[in-house]
Amino acid sequence: MASKLTTCFVCWNLSTGFDCNHHRNNRAMRSTFPPSSKLRRHRSTIIISSQQKRQYNKKSSRPSSIDGPLNPPNSNDDDSLHNFNNNSSSPSALNVNRTEPAEQLSDGQLEDLLAMIKNAEKNILLINQARVRALEDLQKILSEKKVLQAEINVLEMRLAETDARIEVADQEKTRVELLEGQLEKLHSELAQKGSDAELHDIQTGVLSDANDTISSLTVELNSIREENASLKNEIESFKTQLNDVKNNDERLVVLEKERLFLESALKDLESKLSISPEAVSELSTLKVECKYLSDKVENLQLLLDKATKQADQAVIVLQQNQDLQREVDKLEATLEEANIYKLSSDKLQKDNELMQQKIKLLENSLEKSDEDINSYVQLYQQSVNEFQDTLNILQKGSKKKTLDEPVEDMPWEFWSQLLLLIDGWALEKKISVDDAKLLREKVWKKDKSISDIYLACKGQNEDEAISSFLGLTSSATSPGLHVIHIAAEMAPVAKVGGLGDVVCGLSKALQKKGHLVEIVLPKYDCMQYDRIGDIRALDVVIESYFDGQLFKNKIWVGTVEGLPVYFIEPHHPDKFFWRGDFYGERDDFRRFSYFSRVALEFLLQAGKKPDIIHCHDWQTAFIAPLYWDVYVPKGLNSARICFTCHNFEYQGTAPASELESCGLDSHHLNRPDRMQDNSAHNRVNSVKGGVVYSNIVTTVSPTYAQEVRTAEGGKGLQSTLSTHSKKFIGVLNGIDTDIWNPATDPFLDVQYNANDLQGKSENKEALRRKLGLSSEDVKRPLVGCITRLVPQKGVHLIRHAIYLTLELGGQFVLLGSSPVPHIQREFEGIANHFKNHDHIRLILKYDESLSHTIYAASDMFIIPSIFEPCGLTQMISMRYGAVPIVRKTGGLNDSVFDIDDDTIPSQFQNGFTFLNADEKGINGALVRAINLYQNDPESWKQLVQKDMNIDFSWDSSAAQYEELYLKSVTRGRATKRA
Ligand code: ADP
Repeated sequence: MASKLTTCFVCWNLSTGFDCNHHRNNRAMRSTFPPSSKLRRHRSTIIISSQQKRQYNKKSSRPSSIDGPLNPPNSNDDDSLHNFNNNSSSPSALNVNRTEPAEQLSDGQLEDLLAMIKNAEKNILLINQARVRALEDLQKILSEKKVLQAEINVLEMRLAETDARIEVADQEKTRVELLEGQLEKLHSELAQKGSDAELHDIQTGVLSDANDTISSLTVELNSIREENASLKNEIESFKTQLNDVKNNDERLVVLEKERLFLESALKDLESKLSISPEAVSELSTLKVECKYLSDKVENLQLLLDKATKQADQAVIVLQQNQDLQREVDKLEATLEEANIYKLSSDKLQKDNELMQQKIKLLENSLEKSDEDINSYVQLYQQSVNEFQDTLNILQKGSKKKTLDEPVEDMPWEFWSQLLLLIDGWALEKKISVDDAKLLREKVWKKDKSISDIYLACKGQNEDEAISSFLGLTSSATSPGLHVIHIAAEMAPVAKVGGLGDVVCGLSKALQKKGHLVEIVLPKYDCMQYDRIGDIRALDVVIESYFDGQLFKNKIWVGTVEGLPVYFIEPHHPDKFFWRGDFYGERDDFRRFSYFSRVALEFLLQAGKKPDIIHCHDWQTAFIAPLYWDVYVPKGLNSARICFTCHNFEYQGTAPASELESCGLDSHHLNRPDRMQDNSAHNRVNSVKGGVVYSNIVTTVSPTYAQEVRTAEGGKGLQSTLSTHSKKFIGVLNGIDTDIWNPATDPFLDVQYNANDLQGKSENKEALRRKLGLSSEDVKRPLVGCITRLVPQKGVHLIRHAIYLTLELGGQFVLLGSSPVPHIQREFEGIANHFKNHDHIRLILKYDESLSHTIYAASDMFIIPSIFEPCGLTQMISMRYGAVPIVRKTGGLNDSVFDIDDDTIPSQFQNGFTFLNADEKGINGALVRAINLYQNDPESWKQLVQKDMNIDFSWDSSAAQYEELYLKSVTRGRATKRA
């Protein structure tokens, strides 16, 4: 474009390098033609008029681009040029002038001049055309600009600038028009004066002016073009911005919709607000009603509490009724048996009668036979008579039995019937072939023991009778059952809580009953070695499988409380039981699955043939699946498995793969009906394994056995327990009355008993002195609490009881420690707070000897458990004359009965109970206890004495276990040997 702008419009040569003739002529002409301001005025005359422009536009078919090539000079085929010339008045004048003779210029010069003028005119015309096109473009741009103008202020400013320039261009145009006018004028003057020279000067001046104008216009045009180009770019960018604006508009529409929606919601709210006063008034009415209702509810609650009490009483009465019912059932069964026996006698009688009828028939037929046959019949008759005699003897025997007379010489028929009975059981697979053989031998020998048993079991049902008979076979080989407990705790050597007490207490009681009882424990580094008698390592190494290899284990033996105990010391790099603590290690699952495996391996290698393997809690529940899946195939197959869960809170779960370590097949066991945890399907649950794979499953109290069948108490195992309910039973724990005996307790300052309570007061005084509590008021009641501080034990209620006791004028001693850090910290805070207090002392540790002295010193003992599988402390405290204050749950519900509960026979009332696990609940019981203590010392003393005399020994519980063991052993033998 720049090159075009420097084109010489006269000769059409580029003015970059060389001078053309025209240039040279022009320069020559310009030197003779003064460049005055007057002449500059004339320049504007070459600008075409707007009318001419319109006419040209109409005819022009060329594109309106200003970049289009300019017409070469002298182009004859340019119609527009001709048209322009035709339409212009001046060219016609020029034509006329051209025909007139020049007076002062030569013809050639004149011709040259005319040609130059003509060229100049043509070029002006072309420039004008270009300018027109540019203007048109500009107009278009302007119109586009106008459309955008409203939105684009910046563009407006620039357009304003452009307009200003266009104005200048217009001014120039006017000037060119003026120049044209002057040119015309000059032409006419020339025509009048015929002065060539003047004409020449004028023409040269005009041309020079025109040239200046053209070049200035060209510059302007270029700048306008540039401007336009940049404007175009800007327009493009504005277009994109416009699109953005459009998008924004769309968003605006959405927003607008949202605004409308909000407005309508606002209106809604306003309308609601307008009716709110009514609602408020309604609300206040409702409040009143609500108050009335809540009063009513409270009343109802009271009634409900009363009703609950009555219901509880009813339950107890019901239980008593059930007990009675059971007894009635038993009696009925006995009666039934007697009837059956009577029936069988009757049957025999009938048979006999039938037989006699047959005989008569035979006799009739025989009469018709020959003599030989007659004699045969007589013989037969004799035998029948003999049979009749036997029958009579049997009948006599039966009568004798009814009169409890000893049976002496029994006829063969008696033994034969016995034999048939035994064979029947064997054939029906109710007893094993071996047992049947043993019993048969006894019959053949007419052994008195078996006849006694047979006569003795007349009142029993078949199961009981079989059990009695099998007692005979087991006593033939051993005096009792061989029971092996495999556990993680045993009091007093390795005790964390009640589990340790149970293992020791139950074992001792079973041992007393004549059974062979052994215990297998891990050899912890933190055990009370001074409580083990004659501990020594055996000269044997047991190799046991774990994590795909065999590890050596040392076996130690010693006696604990007179019981034989095996301690297993693993030589595993993880030093499983060398941790300074019993539990709470990150690898507890591995530690105890290892122990379970090695315990069974030990039994196998020691060649033991126990009747019962009794495992306890999740730590040794692995025993059950390990026994059946791994050890029975290896030959350790004599036993029935009993599993006792002491607390369903702790179930021992882990990723299924961890089972593999001890040799269990995780794929086989990680199934819903086997060991798979009921709430996490990629985990296995050790307690569940114990429940599923054991022959007997027990827990530690009848109430807790009921509670764990519910969703709340079962901790996820309720469905499993329901599935296996036939083998699941709650047996209330006992306590070891040798260890827990205030009359012999070596930990006490003074021993005492129910008939001599002075010793108890002295122990109270001794403890006060020891703990720095005030002894000023002898009669101030001392409330004791010994517990693991875990949520299960109702720690918030224990905390409340401390402050409440203080308020009620009592003293409080707490002995406990917590595995839960924040609870331990909290109680440390309370302990510090009361560090030097006269009436409160918290001792936050495990201390066996101190526990004995606290039981002995306490007047009352508080156990506000949220749930309590059995609980031993209420039994121990009663044995030591400390009256229990407990929440009615689990084993507490089975062992403590409120003294104010009329539904309980007075001989069983032994403490204070409350139902709701809240402050209100505990307040009621504690206030009643302290009131009785302070206001009725005589009743209190009687209560203390009654509690101390209650039998909480293991005797009756051990008898229940013995029965469970025996039944299971019987069943096991029958199924195994059949
Ligand atoms: P759990 O087994 O749930 O801990 P139990 O009432 O069945 O509760 O058994 C608790 C046994 O642990 C009792 O023999 C009790 O005396 C004893 N015990 C609890 N805490 C301590 C302690 N800090 N120091 C000494 N003995 C304790």
